[in-house]
Amino acid sequence: PLVLGIESSCDETGVGIVRGRTLLTNTIASSMDEHVRYGGVVPEVASRAHVQAIGPAVAQALAEAQVRIEDLDAIAVTAGPGLSGALLVGVSAAKGLAAATGLPLYGINHLAAHVAVDLVAEDSPGLHTPTIALLVSGGHTEILRIGDIVDDIELLGATIDDAAGEAFDKTARLLGLDYPGGPNISRAAAGALDGTGVPGDPQAVRFPRGLSTAPDLRNPARRHSFSFSGLKTAVLRFVTAHEAGAGDRGIRLADVAASFEEAVVDVLVTKTLFACEDTGIDHVLLGGGVAANTRLRERLTERCAAAGVTLRVPPLRLCTDNGAMVAALGAEIASRSLAPSPFDFGVTSSLEAHDVLIA
Ligand code: ATP
Ligand code: MG
Ligand code: FE
Repeated sequence: PLVLGIESSCDETGVGIVRGRTLLTNTIASSMDEHVRYGGVVPEVASRAHVQAIGPAVAQALAEAQVRIEDLDAIAVTAGPGLSGALLVGVSAAKGLAAATGLPLYGINHLAAHVAVDLVAEDSPGLHTPTIALLVSGGHTEILRIGDIVDDIELLGATIDDAAGEAFDKTARLLGLDYPGGPNISRAAAGALDGTGVPGDPQAVRFPRGLSTAPDLRNPARRHSFSFSGLKTAVLRFVTAHEAGAGDRGIRLADVAASFEEAVVDVLVTKTLFACEDTGIDHVLLGGGVAANTRLRERLTERCAAAGVTLRVPPLRLCTDNGAMVAALGAEIASRSLAPSPFDFGVTSSLEAHDVLIA
């Protein structure tokens, strides 16, 4: 099926078009620049930017894919989870298109779409099931068991406080680095911000690994949960203590950034492999904006290889929020001839991962 997908759950306005498992176009406009001075995504600013971007993005996607609206078989749109006001823009636009064309409309789940996107990656081996998905972004940190991309998704673990990307963003701020924090912390860790070019030592400071110390692991309910707020506080305490004693220790920003990054990556990788161990599943898929982190990809690659687990990391532009992922999931749903979502469906900011299609 030829499907157009619309994504507007956060700061990216994405429109993708796929034909079956072939990606035709993936248009993305981001309002990130407008959020930088606030140090985080401001919901109303994001919603207003979506309203401006959505019309041109749909037109551009159709033009790039050389597809006429009437040639489409279905339209898919993210119905949640995400920022309500932002989601409403995409859903309203999708409903308008569906009303004008009579095409079936699928309201779909953003988390499942992060997984489904691998179906349309150029080098995709297809989506192996079952697979363990590690989704890490500014808004979520989740481990999912994917038995089937439409009917069998189970949440194994999530963060009980900050998301991994959020931990990068908040820690960057307290280290005096700009938003978004992920790329800036990585640059600092590489020694690129202090002019030395000497990478920081990831072992310089032993920051806490939330919920993955021995006592927590005796609590099975916590085995796959994450916590990053203690880590952020530990960095704050460390930095404050060393500022107070300035000059005597010569602590490098690169060392602090590298040690923080190591703590986050350590927990993400360890818990993903616990999930493989517990379920006996030997395939892992990485998704979300934090997949851009080089150290995470390296460590996950090493640990998966050592454990005999096959790792898939879609190309980075497909890991961050985009419309292709929505179109990919929409095409999978359409190919199964499932009933479209009722035309009066709304958005759900906290939609759970197993709710793949709004029915
Ligand atoms: P959602 O959570 O709804 O998917 P989002 O906009 O937060 O939305 P993305 O756009 O996928 O998600 O990812 C942005 C997040 O990824 C930010 O928190 C950012 O700091 C983080 N990030 C980006 N690059 C890196 C990196 N190199 N290392 C660590 N984190 C990174
Ligand atoms: Mg984003
Ligand atoms: Fe996302």
